Amino acid sequence: MQSRNATSTAASAASGRRWPLHRALAGTSTFLLCALLGAICGSSVLLIAGTRLDPGSANTFEMDRSIKPGDDFYGYANGGWLGTVAIPAGYASYDTRAMLKEKSSRRVRDLIQEAAASPSVNGSIAQKVGDYYASFMDADAIEARGMTPLRDELARVSAISNKTSLSAYLGTTLTGEVDGFTANADHIFGLWINQGFEDASRNVVHLWQGGLGMPERGYYVDSSPKMAALRAHYQTHISVVLKFAGIADPESRAARVLSLESRIAQAFAPDADATDVFKQDNSWKRGDFAIKAPGMDWDAYFKSAGVADQLDFTVWQPSAVTGVSALVETESADTWKDYLTFHLVEHYAAILPKAIANEDFSFYGTFLSGVQQAPERKQLAIAAINGALGQAVGELYTGRYFPPEAKSRAQAMVSDLISAFRTRISSLEWMSPDTKQKALAKLAALEVDIGYPDRWIDYSTLDIVRSDAFGNMRRAEAFLHARNLTKLKQPVDPIEWPINPQVPGAVIMFSPNAEFFSAAILQPPYFDWKGDAASNYGSAGAGMAHEISHSFDELGNIYDAHGRLGSWWTAEDRAKYGVAAQKLVTQFNGYCPFADLCLNGKQILTENIADLAGLLVAHDAWILSQKGKPDTLIGGQTGEQRFFLAFAQRWRKLQNESALREQVKSDTHSPGEYRSDTVRNVDAWYKAYQIAPIDRLYLKPEDRVRIW
Ligand SMILES: [Zn+2]
Repeated sequence: MQSRNATSTAASAASGRRWPLHRALAGTSTFLLCALLGAICGSSVLLIAGTRLDPGSANTFEMDRSIKPGDDFYGYANGGWLGTVAIPAGYASYDTRAMLKEKSSRRVRDLIQEAAASPSVNGSIAQKVGDYYASFMDADAIEARGMTPLRDELARVSAISNKTSLSAYLGTTLTGEVDGFTANADHIFGLWINQGFEDASRNVVHLWQGGLGMPERGYYVDSSPKMAALRAHYQTHISVVLKFAGIADPESRAARVLSLESRIAQAFAPDADATDVFKQDNSWKRGDFAIKAPGMDWDAYFKSAGVADQLDFTVWQPSAVTGVSALVETESADTWKDYLTFHLVEHYAAILPKAIANEDFSFYGTFLSGVQQAPERKQLAIAAINGALGQAVGELYTGRYFPPEAKSRAQAMVSDLISAFRTRISSLEWMSPDTKQKALAKLAALEVDIGYPDRWIDYSTLDIVRSDAFGNMRRAEAFLHARNLTKLKQPVDPIEWPINPQVPGAVIMFSPNAEFFSAAILQPPYFDWKGDAASNYGSAGAGMAHEISHSFDELGNIYDAHGRLGSWWTAEDRAKYGVAAQKLVTQFNGYCPFADLCLNGKQILTENIADLAGLLVAHDAWILSQKGKPDTLIGGQTGEQRFFLAFAQRWRKLQNESALREQVKSDTHSPGEYRSDTVRNVDAWYKAYQIAPIDRLYLKPEDRVRIW
C-alpha cells in the first residue's frame, strides 16, 4: 500500500453519498483506504489481521508441520489454515483481512445498536450515535415525510435565474468532501483543506474536479457500445429521479443533464495525470480564476462557499476548473437547475422515500456494480454514522476494544522500528551521504500515530435528533464542513486522523509527514497487546515497517521531512537503487503460480522492496526490544522462529484461480505465498530454521537481495 498525499474524509464515506456507499456495499473492501490512497492503493490495504485468538503465541495450530520449512515456508506456516478454511460463498478470495473486517463490522454494529437501544445522557456521543441510527432506521417516518425535507433546497435551486445566482448556488456545494485521491468529487468541485505542496506552514484550499454521476470520465467519453448503452441507462435513471422531484418533461431534461455531464467529463484531466502529483501542483491566486477560468462569477461562488477571504488555492485539475467555469456561461440556467435537482435528490436518496432509494440502488447497485440484493437498511445506517460521527463511534469502539495499554505497547514497537530504521538508513549502500542526512531528517520528523487520536473531535455543537434523519445528515455535513474551514485559520496539524479507529487499516500521509494505524487493524493475530512480542513484531511490526519504508523509497522520495513536494534523491542514488533492485525483479520473475503465468517482477517491485525492508527492520526492532534477554520457547518455537512464522502467516490467503490470475496480471503486490517467501533474503531466517542448501527455498548468500 502506498500513498502520495493522502488524507481522509471518512465523512464522505458515510453521510449517505452514493459512491462511497455503493462501493462499500459492492464489496470493495479496500474502498476506505483506496479513497485515502487512491489509484496506487491497489489491492493490498496493508496490514492484515485477525482470525482466531491465540494469546501469547504464534498460531502454531494453523501450521502444517509435515511440510519442511525450507521447502515451502508458506505451506509450513499456513497449511492447517489453508486446509480447513473455505472461501465463503460470494467471495473470490478470503484472508485474515477479510475476517478482521467482518469482526470489526460486527463490533461496530453492536455498539451502534446498543447505543440506539439504551437511553444516554442528552448530548453524549452515545446519544448522538444512537439517535442517528434510530432516525435512519425509522423508515416509516421517512416515508411519511415524502419529499418535504428537500423542499427548501429545491426552492433555492428553482430560484436560480442568472449567472450570478447560479454561481452563488454552486458555491454552496463546495463542501469538504474529497481527499488526496478522489477521482470525481460529488459536486462540480471538491474541497480539501491541507498544507500546500511547497508551503508546509499553513493550510490552503485544494480544489478537485467532480460533478459526474457516473464513476469517471471514461463512462462519458468512451464510444464503445457497452459505454453507450450504459449512458442510455443512466439517462433513464436521471429522468426517473427528476420525475420523483416533480419536474415536468423529465425525459428531454434528462437528455440535457447527461449532455451537460458529458461536457464536464470532457474537461476532466486525463486519467494518466492522476498518478503524477507534480501535474496536480498548480498554485492559483484568487485573482487567477477570472482570468484562467472565465464564465463562473467567482466572487459569488467563493463567497457562498465560505472561502471568500482565501488568496491561495491549489488546483489539482486546471482543465476541469476552466471547462466547468465556461459551462456556467454557455449552458442554460434551466439545464443547470435540472442537473442540480437530480444530484440533490441522489445525494439524499438513502433517507428519502423507499421508491427513490430503490431507484438509486437499481442503477448504482445492480446495474453499475452488479449487486443483486439491496443491502439491509441497517448496513446503510451504520455506514452513514461512520461518516457523520466517525470519531464518536471510534471513541465507543476503542473504549471497549483497544485499551490504553494496547496503544502504549504498539507505540513501544513503533519506537523500536524507528530506531531500527535509523541504523538501516545510515548503512544503506545505494544512498549517498547527503541523501542519508535528508532521509534521517525525514525519519526524525515522521509522525506515527497508533490506534486512535489523542484528542477526539468535539461533536458537542452537532445536534442529533432521534426523529430527524434528514436534518441529522444535513447538520452533520454542515458541522464537518465548518470544521474543515476552521483549519484554514489554524496551523497545519500533522496528527489530524485521516482514518477512523474502527476501520481496519492504515494511512500513509506524505504531506504532512505522518502515518496512522487504526485500532481495528491492531488486533490478534496481527497484533496482540497481551501476547508474544516475536509474533507481534513479525506480523504487525513488519507491516508497519513496510509502510514506513515507503516514506523513503521511490514513492516517498518526492516529499521531504515537512511533506513538501520535491525530490530529495540524487540521480546517482536512483541509479544505484535501480541496480540493487534488479536482483529482486529477477527473483520474483522466477515465481510461476501457473504453468502459463509467472509474476512480473517489475510490476510488483516497489511493494516487494517494501516487504523486504519491513521484514528486515522489524527483525532488527524485535532484537532491540529483547534487550539481550534469553530467547524463550512458546508452542515449541523459539522467538526467532515465531517472528518469521508470524510474518508468513500474515500473508495467508485463499483465492480462486481467476482471482489469483487477475492479481498476477494487474496488482502491484505479489500473491501471499511469494510475499511470505521474502524470508529467503534474510540471513536470520536461515539460522532460525536451519535452512540448508538442499532445501528448495535456499538461496546462496550472494543471491540474497540486500537493498535495505
Ligand atoms: Zn506498500
